[in-house]
Amino acid sequence: MSLRTQKIALNPNHKQSTLMAQHAGYARVAFNFGLSSFNAGLDADEWRTYQDIKREFNAVKRERFDWCDGLSQNASKNAIHNLGDAVSRWKSKQNRFPVYKKRSDRISYQADNGVGTAEVYKKRIKLPKIGWVRMREELRFTGEVSKVVVSKHNGRWSVSILVRCDESNYTHQPTLFDDREPVGVDVGINTLATCSDGVVYDNPRPLKRYQRKLRRANKALSRKSKGSRNWQKAKDRLGAVHYRIACIREDAHHKASTAIVKRASAIGIETLNISGLLKNRRIAKALSDSALSRFLTMLKYKAERRGVPITEADMFFASSKTCSNCGEKKTDLTLSDRTYHCTQCGFESDRDLNAAINLSPA
Ligand SMILES: [Zn+2]
Repeated sequence: MSLRTQKIALNPNHKQSTLMAQHAGYARVAFNFGLSSFNAGLDADEWRTYQDIKREFNAVKRERFDWCDGLSQNASKNAIHNLGDAVSRWKSKQNRFPVYKKRSDRISYQADNGVGTAEVYKKRIKLPKIGWVRMREELRFTGEVSKVVVSKHNGRWSVSILVRCDESNYTHQPTLFDDREPVGVDVGINTLATCSDGVVYDNPRPLKRYQRKLRRANKALSRKSKGSRNWQKAKDRLGAVHYRIACIREDAHHKASTAIVKRASAIGIETLNISGLLKNRRIAKALSDSALSRFLTMLKYKAERRGVPITEADMFFASSKTCSNCGEKKTDLTLSDRTYHCTQCGFESDRDLNAAINLSPA
């Protein structure tokens, strides 16, 4: 048994998105009510559990929050439950003391009833008191849906679905004709990943592509008076550009990492010295654009899931400077040398491919 989360974009209609926003508002007031009650308890030297708070909330909600009558009580129940979790994390010193939730453009609520009966059918999910809402894609995992969090960010709704599924969904089944081979992966700015088997994945570099749009959206925002309706609209538009950039990047990373993990019997990667690289300001921007460490993290967890062993080379292993043919180290290799040429044995290869072969696990 393992837990998997999938975040899926929603396509709600107008009525549904209004209802979802109301539920998020309901969750917010319930959370804040609970927090102020808990604080009052602390002032009076009594420890209020989340059950106490839930009881208190239920006693007053008809009166104080009558606008919530038609909404699903899961929203408030889960909000208070989550407050209880936040408080116990604070008590065990894992986290800061919870803070009041403000109205913001990032809203969310937990919609499930806590016992795993949320309905998902193909590209639809049934949300209590809202009905069937369209999703952009199907759920990839089969199993019991145990948590459903609806959220809105940058003007777009999405749902995070937690599924309890059995491991066998994903582990690789070895066959007689297993043709998988060890793969070394060199990540970089010019190409996202160069593999030792010769496959190359390009880096989409969306920031560069969207720079003009970003600048224009930023300018438009700065011309509006802060807090106004038009300012909010401009802010959403800017947020949408940022979101688009993040999506393009993430999509490329997911596709490349899945493809590598699927065909590799073992994977070798380098340890990125990101903080060292970021000191070089010329490549800092390009580097943060391609978010290489996130890509490596993705590769690692996907390999782990499928049971493909993954090894990280030592931070100081000179994967680019070493000849993959004879092991000679070339000390005068610069970043602009795109081709590796070994003076010792005459081996010649693309610079990144040479590094990838060096990283390949034996
Ligand atoms: Zn050589």
